[in-house]
Amino acid sequence: MGGNIEIVGIKIDNVNMDEAADRLTEYLDSDTYNMVFTPNSEILYTAVKDRELERILNCGRLVAPDGIGVVIASRFYGTPVKERVAGFDLMIRLMGIADSRGSSVYLLGGKEGVAEEAAIKLTESYGNLRIAGTRNGFFEEDSEDKIINEINNSNADILIAALGAPKQEKFIYKHSDKLKVKIAMGVGGSLDVLAGRIKRAPEFYQKAGLEWFYRLMKEPGRIIRVLRIPKFIALAFYDAKSR
Ligand code: UDP
Repeated sequence: MGGNIEIVGIKIDNVNMDEAADRLTEYLDSDTYNMVFTPNSEILYTAVKDRELERILNCGRLVAPDGIGVVIASRFYGTPVKERVAGFDLMIRLMGIADSRGSSVYLLGGKEGVAEEAAIKLTESYGNLRIAGTRNGFFEEDSEDKIINEINNSNADILIAALGAPKQEKFIYKHSDKLKVKIAMGVGGSLDVLAGRIKRAPEFYQKAGLEWFYRLMKEPGRIIRVLRIPKFIALAFYDAKSR
């Protein structure tokens, strides 16, 4: 099932959505801590410059390909990814799996109130899913131990960390020895979408690989971030050629 592709030095699992979901089920059955990341072009571009992030991504148990840039880049290496596995969609699959097993989830991230609103939406859709706790994502480093204790005391099976990249990846990795959850997943702004504060791009944009364009229209300030997509694609092109 799958194998992986190394793109600009980061190992990406070549899984489709169903295979990724099967892996998540396996992790929930295990007794180990499993870090799940869904890097897009922007995160991979950042990782090329940030060696710590690169190392962390390469320690992920599941590193799924998110974003059209990653899909394009994989072709340069001669091993196209099977499909784009968007972080938001994978998180929703995980919530479905958790619901079918009565697992519990801790939602960490977003501005004040976002995680709580997301929790309400989740409980409306998933009757068996248990919300172990919620907390906003704006905190000082010296309160992290308290937050870890809170997550552990909640007995959550899953930690959804929506702190933005690379904060969420670094948080998930830094506390890997202490956290007792089975899955810790970084999901960027997905709690804002769940809470209804941000609208996800309509399916047309998603299917056409233009989700970035939709987000750019909604938030023109994202231009600097969006420009990392062609920069990443160029970087991947030269990296693949040099092999
Ligand atoms: N965020 C947070 N703590 C921080 C910085 C950001 O919880 O210190 C949240 C922010 O409120 C937003 C998410 O992290 O909900 C970042 O969203 P972004 O649009 O960057 O994520 P993307 O989906 O583009 O990766």
